[in-house]
This record gives sequence, structure tokens and C-alpha cells, in this order.
Amino acid sequence: MKVGIMGGTFDPIHLGHLATAESVREIFGLEEILFIPAARPPHKIEKHVTPEVHRLMMTFLATQSNEKFQVSPTELLREGLSYTLDTVDELNKKFGASAELFFIIGSDAMVDLPKWHESKELVRRANFIVATRPGVKVGLSAAKKFFGKAGAEHIHQVQTPGLEISSTDIREKVRQGKSIKYLVPEVVEEYIFKEQLYRDEVDDNDD
Ligand code: ATP
Ligand code: MG
Repeated sequence: MKVGIMGGTFDPIHLGHLATAESVREIFGLEEILFIPAARPPHKIEKHVTPEVHRLMMTFLATQSNEKFQVSPTELLREGLSYTLDTVDELNKKFGASAELFFIIGSDAMVDLPKWHESKELVRRANFIVATRPGVKVGLSAAKKFFGKAGAEHIHQVQTPGLEISSTDIREKVRQGKSIKYLVPEVVEEYIFKEQLYRDEVDDNDD
């Protein structure tokens, strides 16, 4: 069994995440994609992040129309900082040792991968599919080199539809009263307005 994993802050989830996941699913023949909202991402620990319940709800709403998309609250339920290696352990238990895990990450996240907690062990135990994100140049060969043999075997690059959408941009648009139509699914747009998210927070989140 091949399982795709799309982790993120999802603050909010947008069509860039969804289109990337769907295209990677087809290209790699993945049976399902698990969307895992991150609790307090280690690299965003000092920044403002919308309460978990809202990010989880938006992730459910955004994925409900695709039967291949599932949502897992595992990182939200875990105590303390969430590390991807703990998620790998959990998924190995859930799907069995023979299941192959494929983490889908944007090219911006790939550049940081060597700095992730226990990153070498992580790349030995799971695959990473790097989706090319517009506007971000990736030095994939440098990162692959860092991971040696495991990197050569487990890090894959793929061209995805390339939607130039970011959560930071969407939050900024909402704050300025601009339209976010066609950037997020309609159900997510409705949720954001109903819950009055992103109205008047100070946002210094630009990664
Ligand atoms: P923020 O602007 O708050 O950082 P974001 O849009 O980057 O939000 P995240 O939740 O941080 O979204 O991203 C989760 C994962 O999805 C990361 O691996 C990121 O690289 C990837 N990703 C985000 N937006 C896109 C996009 N438009 N195309 C491809 N991958 C994306
Ligand atoms: Mg980001």
C-alpha cells in the first residue's frame, strides 16, 4: 500500500495544497492522501497560528469531496511539539510495516528538510515527493547529497500544476477585504467568513 501524506499548518488550506496532492496521487499511484494539520510547527512556534479547531475544520471541509483524501488529527492530539518521525511511527503502526509512506512537500519546505528533527532517519524510513512551487528555486541536488544513498532513493521531484497560492497571501487578502474566490474551496471561504477568521490579526508570517 502506498500512502501520501500532506502535512501543513493549513491556515487556511487552499487550492495549491489540494491540486498538488491530487496530481501527486495520480503520478505516484497513491491509494490515499492523508492531510495532517500540524500542531505547533517547530519553525512557526513564535508566530501566531489560528486555533487548531478552525484549521482542522477547514481541512475536513476542503477534502470531503474527494474520497481519496482523508484527514488525520494525529499531530493535533499529540502532546508537545510535533515531529514528523513520530508521525511515521504512528502511520507504520496504522498501515503496517509494508506500507510505503510518501510525504508531499513544497519545494520551499524541501530546502529546510536537512534541518528537520532526525531528518536522516526520516529520509531512510519514508519517501519525500518534492512538488515544484512557482517562484521557488530548489537546490535539490544539494539536499539529496546531504541525505546520501537514502536521499537518492527516497527523494523524488515532480512538476505539479504550480498554483501560486499561499496561506499568507490569503490571510492578507481577507484582512484587506479582498476576494479569496478560486483560491480556496467555496466551503472554506464560507467558513472563514462565518467564523470571522483573519480579520484583524497582525501577521508576520511570510514563509
Ligand atoms: P504559509 O504561507 O502560512 O506558510 P503555505 O501556503 O506555505 O502557508 P503550509 O501549510 O505552510 O501552506 O504548507 C504546507 C505544505 O504545502 C508545504 O510543504 C508547502 O511547501 C506546500 N505548499 C503550500 N502551498 C503550495 C502551493 N501553492 N503549491 C505547492 N505546494 C504548496
Ligand atoms: Mg508555508
